[in-house]
Amino acid sequence: MKHRSSLVLAALTLGVFLASTAFAGLHKPFGGAHPGDVEMINGRNCGAPEPTGMEMDAVGTALRRYIAEGRASATGQIKVAWHVIYSGSTGNIPQSQIDAQIAYMNARYAGTGFSFVLSSVDRTSNKQWFGMTPGSRNESNAKNSLAIDPLHRFNVYSAKPGQSLLGWATFPWSYAENSKLHGVVIHYGSVPGGYLSPYNLGGTLAHEAGHYLGLYHTFQGGCTAPGDQVDDTPYEATATSGCPSGKDTCPAAGVDPIHNYMDYSTDVCYTQFTAGQITRMQSSVGTYRPNLCNAAVAQARPEAVEAVRVTGTVAFRNIYPNPFTSRTNVQLYLPRAGKVTVKVYNVAGALVETLADGEFAAGEHSIEFSAKQLPIGTYFVHAVAGSQKAARAVVLIQ
Ligand SMILES: [Zn+2]
Repeated sequence: MKHRSSLVLAALTLGVFLASTAFAGLHKPFGGAHPGDVEMINGRNCGAPEPTGMEMDAVGTALRRYIAEGRASATGQIKVAWHVIYSGSTGNIPQSQIDAQIAYMNARYAGTGFSFVLSSVDRTSNKQWFGMTPGSRNESNAKNSLAIDPLHRFNVYSAKPGQSLLGWATFPWSYAENSKLHGVVIHYGSVPGGYLSPYNLGGTLAHEAGHYLGLYHTFQGGCTAPGDQVDDTPYEATATSGCPSGKDTCPAAGVDPIHNYMDYSTDVCYTQFTAGQITRMQSSVGTYRPNLCNAAVAQARPEAVEAVRVTGTVAFRNIYPNPFTSRTNVQLYLPRAGKVTVKVYNVAGALVETLADGEFAAGEHSIEFSAKQLPIGTYFVHAVAGSQKAARAVVLIQ
């Protein structure tokens, strides 16, 4: 049973329903090749496996039992092993975009009980794996070669999937806890600053991580019980396309959850996990992935891991708070005195503000970055001292 206090935008219903029906085919997008490497992905397309009724029954029963037994919520820090798969000069995304994606995840999962920390980055050039699709030999080969400690780590693969997919995920119950097949594959153009506008703010990984932690699409099952098995997400007949002002496709109470991370809306539209989804993620992890957030983590495969942070004559100690609303503190460490510039860039690479440009003494420094009138989004703080550089992503939220 789903319950929903009614917030029905009755006047909008018919028009929006017709509009959404007209767009309903768009989540199976056309892939129009452009000169060079640009491929349009018109509409979100996620390749997470379609659950069977039997699977949903079994999962639903297990999660209800977990909650009924009053077991402690499974929450904590999730260590991310990021695998950059690229081909030639395509897809080898920079560290700054990976950092920005992790910052986005922490901003958007705030309040869920889960946080994310980057534990390793490895880079592999492989043309076949780069174009992998769900269930393919390329997928299993890539994951079996690259996966790190799947029992304790969230393995994320950035590639350029075929079938115009933005990404796909495994569910917590899909495989044994320590299976190398667990994880998420995302299109490299979907990370913050990627080329797949309007799916280039980082929403794809937030969506796929939702599956990875046990959520179905909000339109799962359409208007028919049990829908997505979450009581406080209203039923939804169709996946949402774009970011409409409203949409209500089922007779049951409640307008479509177009701002939910588990719908198909554009990244800018994504703002919400519901309380019911948060409970489901926590009970899914507790039931099926109880070791995911454990602190005791086996060593990463050393040959596959490069230093996440480059340390030189300038290093970031921290940027706090991050995400931030009005101002944040950039904390730098300089092993020796010298000229330092600290500049902030937006995701398009345009200079937004110079925070510092001058001689600095050796030691710790804290520099304030004020949002002023900047739009919300991801920014990159670059510090340069001599030939040494360091960069960090910060996320400005409302
Ligand atoms: Zn999905």
